[in-house]
Amino acid sequence: MNLSFLATLGIGKTNSGAFSGTWRKTKGETLTVRSPIDGGTIATVTMADAKDYAEVSKAAHETYLRWRELPAPKRGEYVRQIGNAFREHKEALGKLVALEAGKILQEGLGEAQECIDIADFAIGLSRQLYGLTIASERPNHSMRETWHPIGTVGIISAFNFPIAVWAWNSMLALVCGDSCLWKPSLKTPLCAIAMTKIAAQVLGKEWSALVGLVIGPDLTVGSALLDDPKVPLISATGSTRMGRIVGPRVAQRFGRSLLELGGNNAILVLEDADLDLAVRGIVFGAVGTAGQRCTTTRRLLVHESIVDDLQKRLVKAYGQCTIGNPLDKKTLIGPLVDEASAKAFDHAVASAKEQGGQVICGGTRAKVGKALKNGAYVTPTIVRCKSMLPIVREETFAPILYIVPIKTLDEAIALNNDVPQGLSSAVFTRDVRAAERFLSATGSDCGIANVNIGTSGAEIGGAFGGEKETGGGRESGSDSWKVYMRRQTSTVNWGNQLPLAQGIKFGGD
Ligand code: NAD
Repeated sequence: MNLSFLATLGIGKTNSGAFSGTWRKTKGETLTVRSPIDGGTIATVTMADAKDYAEVSKAAHETYLRWRELPAPKRGEYVRQIGNAFREHKEALGKLVALEAGKILQEGLGEAQECIDIADFAIGLSRQLYGLTIASERPNHSMRETWHPIGTVGIISAFNFPIAVWAWNSMLALVCGDSCLWKPSLKTPLCAIAMTKIAAQVLGKEWSALVGLVIGPDLTVGSALLDDPKVPLISATGSTRMGRIVGPRVAQRFGRSLLELGGNNAILVLEDADLDLAVRGIVFGAVGTAGQRCTTTRRLLVHESIVDDLQKRLVKAYGQCTIGNPLDKKTLIGPLVDEASAKAFDHAVASAKEQGGQVICGGTRAKVGKALKNGAYVTPTIVRCKSMLPIVREETFAPILYIVPIKTLDEAIALNNDVPQGLSSAVFTRDVRAAERFLSATGSDCGIANVNIGTSGAEIGGAFGGEKETGGGRESGSDSWKVYMRRQTSTVNWGNQLPLAQGIKFGGD
């Protein structure tokens, strides 16, 4: 495999795992970074330890104290240049995502584009960090709400979006006047190094400590981040298991957390659905990123009158999906990130069978040839279930799609909501009443609810996140920026009396 593009991203054979404005001489354990494509070694990273963490945090905090004084549109100007630097490196970043996370190149490029998009969004936002003026009940008083920078934002990211999660958080945090401290997944450290180098180059010596980075074990470096009082907000993306640790631990020190956790997303296909459209949406949602997106379609709730027809069409479409090297243009399904994920896939398929599910296609390891034999490739799988089996309620991070027949819209909505997670959902129908019902207060309970498009592939303009065990956080577009700032309510008395609120008389006449 030709890895020469790595040099253009500043990735060497050996790399430091901590950045505090300068790359630190880290002395932690050596992390060998292997590609999920073929198990080959890409590079090594010398990980950060608790001492490195402390230095990165200190530098990020000290730089924040100066950065917050820069007018927001001036901060936006830096973000504009960072976005342009992402543009220049888009091709190489897309390849690196494919190499390190195993996404197909098109999806890697898409992820790089998301970083560019969120930078663009943040630039506009830098002139729109608006507050409110509120009518005061007291004469000659004015009241307003303003938003101020919050401090250093800790960013914990998952392997499956190795560059975009950081960009969603950091581009907003920077225009909001914050600094960032990134702890990426140990499965994708090179993506983190590349992004940090790009941003640091633009920020220059004066500001580069704003994009702090620590690559290190959860139990040392991760814990230091969770417990750091200088980090008022932790934005954590990953499994619900991780969220259960991060949420309470950060809350214990009265820190804030923004949690973006697991999903178990359903598509409802009603009797009148456009099946050609539905098949395209379902296949992209279910097998894209080899089923390793938080928004991956995992459940299909299909009207009983069309379920056999739809299933047949899906099996045909699955048969046309090429599995293999994600850097190869023909490939639609790359590897799972590692052997542990493939074992989870095997286990889920076996559990589904035990629980009465029927494997319609897939369910096995894929044959990919000698060159890729050390990768964890699986076949995209469809399991037909008579009802919501226990395994269907779990998120298995692999391309397994469970089909459950339904009789009515009410039943489908109830099943859509009958899982612990609440991230994404969709309905395919031509009936406006059914569509609106699905989007109503008595419809889907998810953070994302779509009509006639699938569950995955969100745009950055909307607020992204989900309910229940997905964690309740929102990031990216809309007014998600507010979480990166602290709110201040101010009352100004411009008269010469001191009337009290609620008409209280306190002493005097
Ligand atoms: P993971 O939970 O194993 O790891 C995620 C991150 O959390 C990593 O950086 C990891 O090092 C860190 N982490 C884990 N335990 C920690 C601890 N005790 N202290 C500090 N940090 C800790 O998840 P993963 O396998 O990398 O990613 C897959 C999961 O992420 C799936 O469940 C997926 O649904 C979820 N995800 C959610 C979203 C979303 O926006 N909702 C987006 C992407 C991925």
